[in-house]
Amino acid sequence: MANINNIVKNVNIFRKSFTFADKDVTKWFPGHMHKGMQQMLNRLKKVDCVIEIRDARIPISGNNPKFSGLLRARPHLLILNKADLCDMEQKETVLQALRNDGIEEILWTNCKEQFPQTIKVNLIPTIMKLIDTHPRYKRTELSEYNVMVIGVPNIGKSSFINAVRRTHVQKGKATPVGAKAGITRSVMEKIKVSADPKIYIYDTPGVLAPEVKNINTGMKLALCSCLQDHLVGEDLIVDYMLFWLNKHKKFQYLKVFGLTEPTDDVLVLLNHVAQKNNKFSKRRSIDSNQGRIVYRPDFTAAANIILQKFRSGELGPIMLDSKIKAD
Ligand code: GDP
Repeated sequence: MANINNIVKNVNIFRKSFTFADKDVTKWFPGHMHKGMQQMLNRLKKVDCVIEIRDARIPISGNNPKFSGLLRARPHLLILNKADLCDMEQKETVLQALRNDGIEEILWTNCKEQFPQTIKVNLIPTIMKLIDTHPRYKRTELSEYNVMVIGVPNIGKSSFINAVRRTHVQKGKATPVGAKAGITRSVMEKIKVSADPKIYIYDTPGVLAPEVKNINTGMKLALCSCLQDHLVGEDLIVDYMLFWLNKHKKFQYLKVFGLTEPTDDVLVLLNHVAQKNNKFSKRRSIDSNQGRIVYRPDFTAAANIILQKFRSGELGPIMLDSKIKAD
């Protein structure tokens, strides 16, 4: 690998901002959130505390401000999940930015762990503290509490609920509540996570739509799999990743992909990874080869390999909202 000083000198001439030709980000919107939203609103009436989950790598961009009113109607705990993939050096800055947004209770989790420590130790006391201190909810007559988990797609809502189940439901399966014949399981089933006080968590999370307000926010959401890859385009997501890594001088990708120097050109990276991994697609030639079969580097396959490395943390811990603004 090239000397780090040379690398830094080279990247100084790379792109300073990310632009692309098709600025219509509306097609990235997930269009199927309506039904889930209604179900969530109905459930909210029976809920004493809302656990909102965000991807710790996009604590600000991963938010949809349209839902903050809805969230403030109930005691609100924010879980920053996928903490194992996040650059925790920026933890204090993130906490400060979120507190400035009025969010006081924040926990970090890694739901890939069998029994996440935060879920084991901090979750129940934090829920109870929130309910006890929320003016509307200091109701001594309540003998049990219901908690709902919400968040945009793919941030680990189901993994969180499963981790809660593993950690707090010691024997057998979760405690089904009101699971009567003819009533949809997804609407009614709750997991008892604490016996005293009695706390239940709905076992189906509420799915919110992320807000794609500009290209940068959209690309960050896409990098974290909160938007569907094919809607945005795998090669475009890789292009943004490359731009971001270079801009933030994160050069672990050189070693992981076996490059000798950084590149600002996504085609160079895609081609390199396709060749290295023997990913080629068969095409019928339309030029002078007169219909013969030719093999070309498969950029989509290469992009998927690259994104898998990024998303599993192999390119290093990441805080995409660095400088903490959803630009
Ligand atoms: P949901 O769509 O919000 O319910 O998300 P899922 O629970 O289905 O998780 C989406 C993906 O993120 C899956 O591949 C999970 O294995 C992964 N995942 C969930 N939580 C974590 C975490 O804390 N760390 C890491 N590295 N991956 C996680």
